[in-house]
Amino acid sequence: MAVDKNFKNFVKCICFKCPSHNICMKLRLQKVFCATGNSGCEVENEGCICAKCPVQKEYGLKELYYCKEKKGDNG
Ligand code: SF4
Ligand code: SF4
Repeated sequence: MAVDKNFKNFVKCICFKCPSHNICMKLRLQKVFCATGNSGCEVENEGCICAKCPVQKEYGLKELYYCKEKKGDNG
């Protein structure tokens, strides 16, 4: 199921607590990459905490590193 790009999911998203969420993404206030697609920033694999996220569970998602992998609005 496609993740809705709404404020509720923006608040629930835990990307800001992730070790891979770098300064580039923080300055752009980017998160909820499972809805918006990749960040367009250079991202090092420092770990992904999507598996612990309520949005991941709610939408039955299985993947990780949405900030890198999926083409989308950001990059
Ligand atoms: S699954 Fe990952 S990218 Fe999607 S809302 Fe949760 S922490 Fe953010
Ligand atoms: S998508 Fe995963 S790796 Fe990327 S910032 Fe969010 S939790 Fe971290």
